[in-house]
Amino acid sequence: MGKKENNKYDQHFRMNLKDAIDYTKEVLEFFPKEAKLKGEEIGDGNINYVFRVWEEGTGTKEDRKSIILKQGDCLLRSSGRPLDIRRTEIEAKALMGYDKRSTGLSPKVYQFDSLMSVIAMEDLYHHENLRKALLQAKVFPQLSEDISNFIVRNTLLTSDLGMDPKDKKKNQREFVNPDMCDITEDLVFTEPYTDYKGRNVVLTENMEFVERELYKDKDLHLEAGKLKEIFMNRGEALIHGDLHTGSIFVTKDSTRIFDAEFAYYGPIAYDLGNFLGNLFFPMAYHRLVNIDQKQNLTREIDFLVWLEQTIVSLIDRFTHKWKRLYDNRVTDPLYAKKEYRDWYLERIIKESISMAGLEIIRRIVGDAKVEDIENIEDIPKRVKVERVLILTAKEFIKDGKGFKDGRDMMECFEKAIYDVEKMEE
Ligand code: ADP
Ligand code: MG
Repeated sequence: MGKKENNKYDQHFRMNLKDAIDYTKEVLEFFPKEAKLKGEEIGDGNINYVFRVWEEGTGTKEDRKSIILKQGDCLLRSSGRPLDIRRTEIEAKALMGYDKRSTGLSPKVYQFDSLMSVIAMEDLYHHENLRKALLQAKVFPQLSEDISNFIVRNTLLTSDLGMDPKDKKKNQREFVNPDMCDITEDLVFTEPYTDYKGRNVVLTENMEFVERELYKDKDLHLEAGKLKEIFMNRGEALIHGDLHTGSIFVTKDSTRIFDAEFAYYGPIAYDLGNFLGNLFFPMAYHRLVNIDQKQNLTREIDFLVWLEQTIVSLIDRFTHKWKRLYDNRVTDPLYAKKEYRDWYLERIIKESISMAGLEIIRRIVGDAKVEDIENIEDIPKRVKVERVLILTAKEFIKDGKGFKDGRDMMECFEKAIYDVEKMEE
């Protein structure tokens, strides 16, 4: 798509809906000149501004021609505090890279405007948000295949293993993302365990539990600190950095990863772990809350079986794909050895399971909650879900049992249910 000359957009200003429609008309050569355009603001996050623009009279909602504009501002949408606007350029570049490397698992970027910080991209209107879909017990047979593919290709091929180390270093410079990393370092690694900013949000009924299990557990703090050090220092590959179920769109047979503004050079385990951790929210919700309602029992059970299989096969498929791509692409004489490949892979899996634990805990006690937990109206049930997840997550982080795969993770989750039920007796 070409870009027309237009001085009006030479300097960044925050667009409202009308501006977004004008911008589409005046800057993007996406619709015919005479097209009558309509639009809506669809952003539901607290960081950026997202608009959908479409041509009136070009079919139903399902088949009309449309485009998405995502604009970043130098101020955070929710609180108005400053936030490095370069994150939008990082997101655009990351999305374009995904497109090159992982064959259609992210929205197509039509154009990026660095002056206005606007990404013009493919409208994924026929997809639904994975987090919401999982809450409704919908199954997606392709999910573990697609996500493992996405992580393996995008990380291995941006690391020293799969690209020229000099190019990797140049790439790494492009993706330095200080403000977004700072958010993660605080919200995922430090605050959940120390509450040093007093921003944690904990149910009164779970306060004592959280004090004991999280704030006072020095061994846990040491492990969280070690993982934070890995997040801050191991620039091994270009990671997505926010790969939770709300950053993924799905249909019955397609998966699309978006919202890549947290991308930076970091540990591969962070992406795999973030996604894995988020699967335990619908797991706990359906296993401990919804299934008790005894409606649609078969559907609930089918869903739980599928979700468990997904957790297990995610790591199994990751392993399989990692080895295959590794054997095809890695040429460095030291790295190409099978023993090195397997050592590296084992480390990723182990650290992913620990990172999954951090993600679970931060969503329960931190202030960035997930609806899977927050919307449980029955408070005693929510208390139980939170305790089960906290105990599960602590085991993941401490890794005392030497977790190897998804089966170990599921066993640990079941054990935590047993332990919490015993405590209740
Ligand atoms: P933020 O970074 O501000 O959280 P997101 O990238 O998550 O913004 O986008 C906010 C919302 O806008 C998403 O949850 C989704 O509903 C919608 N959205 C974003 N990108 C697209 C797209 N390419 N197609 C359709 N909807 C989109
Ligand atoms: Mg975002």
